[in-house]
Amino acid sequence: MDLSRRQCLKAAGLATGTSLLGSCQSPSSPRSPVDAGNSPLTAEALERAASRKILDVSRIDSPLVIESIRLLRIDRDYIVHVRSKGGAEGVSLTNTRAEYLYPILNKRVIPFFIGKDARNYESLQWELYRHQSNYKLQGLAFWCCVAWVEFAILDMLGRAQGRSIGDILGGVIRRNVRFYVASGRRDSTPQEEVEYLQSLVDETGAEAVKFRLGGRMSKNADASPGRSEGLIRLSRKYLGDSIDLHGDANSSYDPPEAIRIGKMLEDVGAVYFEEPCPFDHLEDTKRVTDALTIDVAGGEQEFSQRRFRWMIQNRGVDIVQPDLHYYGGLLRSIRVARMAALANMPTTVHISGGFGFIYMLHFASVTPDIGKYQEYKRGIERYLNWFDPVLKIKNGALTVPQGPGVGIRDIRGLLKDAKPVS
Ligand SMILES: [Mg+2]
Repeated sequence: MDLSRRQCLKAAGLATGTSLLGSCQSPSSPRSPVDAGNSPLTAEALERAASRKILDVSRIDSPLVIESIRLLRIDRDYIVHVRSKGGAEGVSLTNTRAEYLYPILNKRVIPFFIGKDARNYESLQWELYRHQSNYKLQGLAFWCCVAWVEFAILDMLGRAQGRSIGDILGGVIRRNVRFYVASGRRDSTPQEEVEYLQSLVDETGAEAVKFRLGGRMSKNADASPGRSEGLIRLSRKYLGDSIDLHGDANSSYDPPEAIRIGKMLEDVGAVYFEEPCPFDHLEDTKRVTDALTIDVAGGEQEFSQRRFRWMIQNRGVDIVQPDLHYYGGLLRSIRVARMAALANMPTTVHISGGFGFIYMLHFASVTPDIGKYQEYKRGIERYLNWFDPVLKIKNGALTVPQGPGVGIRDIRGLLKDAKPVS
């Protein structure tokens, strides 16, 4: 659904159940959470959408038995390498948390998969969750490890079929992904921040930016006095009227302060307000979503499908944001996107890890409603020529990898200097 329609629905009192839907028509998305016709937005309908099969391994006609999975390191990068008994291979790159999460990966996740047929990955996920009471580790530390193994297995399953990850997760529907350029800093002045963002806009042709607000999990304290207000005002003035502004509060505010800051964002025509309240305070976040017309985004630390379902069913946010690493991989995130699609809500994944943007590109290649922009941070350039064709940044958009699996051209070459982490 386009932004104006979502904003119209909110203004019409969607959250409280009152409806002025007649004035919010969208030719491309006639359904809405409250006029879903044959599919009312029940918990059962959402769970049903989430549980539909995703992974296509139809072109592999004999078992692909996993012989080994190893965590390797090359300089700054941690790599998971999976190999089948027949010699099929796949790799993934972790986020930086592998540095201290590797015991969970090596002791709780990898052993489960040895000897299993990789074609059954989708059903194995639930078994893994129950295996040796792994569910008691429920949280980012566990699901990151699952994601890293999943990405490597998907790479192997894709390579074995000569198809990209997007092709085996439902089919590629998009080959270019528009992005906003993001700054992760809070120690800068508003002036330094807009100058940095302008330089990223100049470098990439992006039409959108994201900056940080508040102090990060800071109980209403700003990073420095007046920084957020100053940055909101200056961003519009300095970057111009045509740039789409995104603000990310990283759980900084209680509802009154979030609503005050959110209204400032609305006053400058910003399009998106991320994580206004402590990330696990779903009710407070919903209060902010209800009170504002700007789209509220959230979910980057979430690890429960049922809580995502609650957010979607109750319009706790306007845009859901599973992190492909923290939330346990592409399959789980696609399940969230399928639930969100029933509610006409976009799924804009959160990105962790320098290489994480590659998994975002595959997610974006198969997901109908990803919102208007995905995230771009400086530093990803060094990965672009690992792919064939080389990935391109042009006019504020990235191209999606096209080769088999994740699309890395030469995994042998990549692994040549890798050392095991044990
Ligand atoms: Mg964020």
